[in-house]
Amino acid sequence: MVNINPNGLLPKRIAVTGGAGFVGSHLCEALIARGHEVLCIDNFYTGARTNVQHLLGHPRFELMRHDITFPLYIEVDEIYNLACPASPVHYQFDPVQTLKTSVIGAINTLGLAKRLRVPVLQASTSEVYGDPEVHPQTEDYWGNVNPIGPRSCYDEGKRCAETLFFDYHRQHGLGIKVVRIFNTYGPRMHPNDGRVVSNFIVQALRGEDITIFGDGSQTRSFCYVDDLVRGLIAMMESPAEVVGPFNLGNPSEFTIRQLAEAVIRLTGTKARLVEKPLPQDDPKQRKPDISKAETQLGWQPAIALEEGLTRTIAYFDTLLAGGMDAPHL
Ligand code: NAD
Ligand code: UDP
Ligand code: UDP
Repeated sequence: MVNINPNGLLPKRIAVTGGAGFVGSHLCEALIARGHEVLCIDNFYTGARTNVQHLLGHPRFELMRHDITFPLYIEVDEIYNLACPASPVHYQFDPVQTLKTSVIGAINTLGLAKRLRVPVLQASTSEVYGDPEVHPQTEDYWGNVNPIGPRSCYDEGKRCAETLFFDYHRQHGLGIKVVRIFNTYGPRMHPNDGRVVSNFIVQALRGEDITIFGDGSQTRSFCYVDDLVRGLIAMMESPAEVVGPFNLGNPSEFTIRQLAEAVIRLTGTKARLVEKPLPQDDPKQRKPDISKAETQLGWQPAIALEEGLTRTIAYFDTLLAGGMDAPHL
């Protein structure tokens, strides 16, 4: 079969673990649009076939049901490792499985990359900084993570995965790429995954109370998914000596109350704000310093919160109206 290659790049066969999740499905789509072949690997723990349904008939897309805590023998030219539940509600549901996915999943992914001698990208997280005492967060900050709290399965799992990536790099000369992703939102977030953007939009569209945890003064910086996916691809396509870690996120910082007010304004809902208890170890502030990604990858986000929220609200509006298949859990 002739490869269609809109970008003039050599087409590659690329594995995306967690490819049926929120970010992964957008990444698969973008890689196919760039002319590559994509092998999406997912156990559908938090992702769903519906997220990649539109790609299923595509000649350069393949979907494989597999749990990355088990070894995987495939032949590919590049690997993006995204498999891991990302929302606090999901990753705390089965903390041991979350740790296994991050740690054993990283070992299997790295073992695969080592056998094939191909580059591998790790989707790490701003959670490696924990409840940060340095603001905005720079990559050289080592973080403030509780090793035994309810968020530790995710935070420490991702920290250990970063260690594994850098040890495989130093010990085996593996080509690694590590990015620390900050709060990302957009279409195909799971409506029940408990993350703040999907919660607020779904509550607003249903006219239900909008649940602010704590007094809403904690901050986050929200990146629209298309911007993040551009950053992931820019990182993978950067020269071999560029290994990271790089922060990828939108540095515009908002309080959670400001986010709620923006969702209320954009949906025109009559829903009320209600305060609920703040979860344990909830970081008080978060904002990426993205100067490294800007200078070394030429990357910066382009979509402002208002525009991204408008697109995401349109998605959930159609989903809730029954206009598309809902992802199941
Ligand atoms: P998501 O839950 O929508 O996607 C994760 C995907 O991984 C799902 O499809 C799930 O089924 C799959 N998965 C989980 N465990 C698996 C296993 N053992 N084997 C195979 N597949 C498995 O989450 P997301 O928001 O798309 O996050 C994707 C990646 O980005 C994650 O690694 C996450 O830690 C990272 N990240 C995301 C954000 C964000 O704000 N979205 C922020 C920081 C980091
Ligand atoms: N692995 C895999 N696919 C491969 C090669 C390795 O899943 O193509 C797994 C393998 O099960 C191993 C892990 O990756 O447990 C780490 O591999 P590595 O070569 O680093 O370690 P070793 O095989 O020596 O334990
Ligand atoms: N949050 C909230 N209401 C919700 C869900 C979350 O106020 O319905 C808060 C949460 O306590 C945190 C912030 O929003 O301070 C971001 O939460 P999310 O779970 O999206 O991601 P986190 O950055 O905490 O991993």
